[in-house]
Amino acid sequence: MDDSKCMVNIAKFYLEFTVDESCGKCTPCRIGTKRMQEILQKICDGKGEKGDLEKLEQLANNIKRASLCGLGQTAPNPVLSTLKYFKDEYTAHIRDKLCPAGECKALANIKIDPTKCKGCGLCKKNCPVGAISGEIKQPHKIDPDVCIKCGLCMTKCPFKAINK
Ligand code: SF4
Ligand code: SF4
Ligand code: SF4
Repeated sequence: MDDSKCMVNIAKFYLEFTVDESCGKCTPCRIGTKRMQEILQKICDGKGEKGDLEKLEQLANNIKRASLCGLGQTAPNPVLSTLKYFKDEYTAHIRDKLCPAGECKALANIKIDPTKCKGCGLCKKNCPVGAISGEIKQPHKIDPDVCIKCGLCMTKCPFKAINK
């Protein structure tokens, strides 16, 4: 893994796995991991709020202490270790509404660099929601209120003028 991987998203991936695998016999694992997964999803969706990290930590420690078997006792570890070593990424998602790795679609800030745009119009032609405007041979623009962050324009631009 390198810095193109979002640590919040990685933690969510592991929590989704344990939620699926939980046998349901004990409450901390059955319900606690689900609550943790919901908080992580909320953060990745750009709806994280103050207090979420404290809630995650509290839930994680309670689940580790009170679960009956190894699955529940270790399920919160990806969250605790990413919180320990990559807390700034969590903070960026919650406070700044940014995903530093650019993986969380809801937090992507897709924009056209006017110094690189040649005005070929390919992005405008391919945008499924008509979020891009501009005249041929002039720098184009994305309307952030219309853009659904599908990323298609980035793959179509022959000049790599669109970034997130
Ligand atoms: S900790 Fe173990 S016993 Fe408890 S619900 Fe999870 S998998 Fe089942
Ligand atoms: S990301 Fe998708 S919706 Fe947004 S401007 Fe590009 S093509 Fe259009
Ligand atoms: S595809 Fe690239 S170069 Fe062409 S108009 Fe869009 S941003 Fe500009």
